[in-house]
Amino acid sequence: GPVAVALETNGPHGVPRSSGLSDALFVHDGQITKRPMRALALSSLAPRSGDRLWDIGAGSGSISVEWALCGGTAIAIEARSNRVANIRGNAATFGLTHRIAIVEGIAPDILSRLETPQAVFIGGGLDARMFDAVWSRIEPRVRVVAHAVTLETEALLSDLHQRHGGELMRIEIAHAGHLGRYRSWEAMRPVVQWSAVK
Ligand code: SAH
Repeated sequence: GPVAVALETNGPHGVPRSSGLSDALFVHDGQITKRPMRALALSSLAPRSGDRLWDIGAGSGSISVEWALCGGTAIAIEARSNRVANIRGNAATFGLTHRIAIVEGIAPDILSRLETPQAVFIGGGLDARMFDAVWSRIEPRVRVVAHAVTLETEALLSDLHQRHGGELMRIEIAHAGHLGRYRSWEAMRPVVQWSAVK
């Protein structure tokens, strides 16, 4: 894959040191937190060496991979088996199988049997029941970062921000595309990010 090519060509320095790696470095089916949004997710997650992340709704596992590249360990929780296979592949490609545990299952039900984390990313399946289960399970001082793309989840994050504080941010990004002979901005779907410390 592309990581192998980068490694063969340049050694370990072929993979950039910053978060926000190219989407093309991951096997995915379109459900992946896109590079700029992922960079901002990692910035808010503030990974530290040795910290454990719960990556809930892990999709391709790109968040877990970038967290683990910063020296932590991750538990990637994903409901769909085809995506679990992608996570497994991506963890292996980056040489991170020893740092990323993969749990196939539906959150929040399976969370009760996991070792508690120092940070949580919620990228899928967020609703009030999910949040309550996560919040009651984690220790004080644990960081929680959630991304919403739907109005329904956004409304929940607005409510959580009012109740628990933290930072609520709407991220709007556009890329230059083609419009006939000209160029024009093509907007990505806005993502609302809430980050808070319990
Ligand atoms: N951050 C991921 C993309 C997440 S897409 C990445 O960068 O690749 C959201 C994912 O959440 C989907 O793969 C979906 O299958 C998963 N999901 C949704 N609800 C879930 C739940 N309750 N438990 C576990 N996974 C869930």
